[in-house]
Amino acid sequence: MDRILIIEDEESILMALEDDLKLEGYEVTGIEDGQQGLSMAKEGGYDLIILDIMLPKMNGFEVCKELRQAGVTTPILILTAKSQEIDKVLGLELGADDYVTKPFSPRELLARVKAILRRAKQTELGIDVYRFGDVEIDFKKYEAAKNGAPIYLTRLEFALLQFLIKHKSQALSRDTILDEVWGKEVYAYPRTVDTHIAHLRKKIEDDPANPSYLLGIRGIGYKFRE
Ligand code: CA
Repeated sequence: MDRILIIEDEESILMALEDDLKLEGYEVTGIEDGQQGLSMAKEGGYDLIILDIMLPKMNGFEVCKELRQAGVTTPILILTAKSQEIDKVLGLELGADDYVTKPFSPRELLARVKAILRRAKQTELGIDVYRFGDVEIDFKKYEAAKNGAPIYLTRLEFALLQFLIKHKSQALSRDTILDEVWGKEVYAYPRTVDTHIAHLRKKIEDDPANPSYLLGIRGIGYKFRE
């Protein structure tokens, strides 16, 4: 069952949205202020976030920006009230997936929700086989090779590498990596990430001491570069 987080302070809209989405079989959580919404969204576990712009404590633009900066990739559907807001949604590179203008019909909203969720699932399956340099990784079969010779990666190393590749060129914090790869329910030290990156470098880099793909970003964490 897909889980949807709605961040919307207008009670009537929030309640109507909750009812409509629950009727469609979604698991829905509603929250009325931006700050709380942001921390819930950061905790993860949602398949979609429906985000209003005008919110108490922290507006939707800020929530959206912060989520993307924190490496949260959950799809976001923005609710806007004015045409000026639409310009801003489109103009700022907020990383939102789509927007709906108020007032909207339940049918229109549901269609957008379904489309976004479908898209998200397609991209999830997006990386099956990935090649960089002389390395080839098959994430579906859990097979890897360097220069044609098989190399052994653990499931965790596959997951770690896939996460970094999915977000290539982005600096990802150790905490984000832990949350997304190890999972929030697992308690691990940020140093754990360093250890696994070191192992991966030995397996895939030509010169693990001077990596070309798995780069360390001082004070943040790591990024995958091609
Ligand atoms: Ca509002």
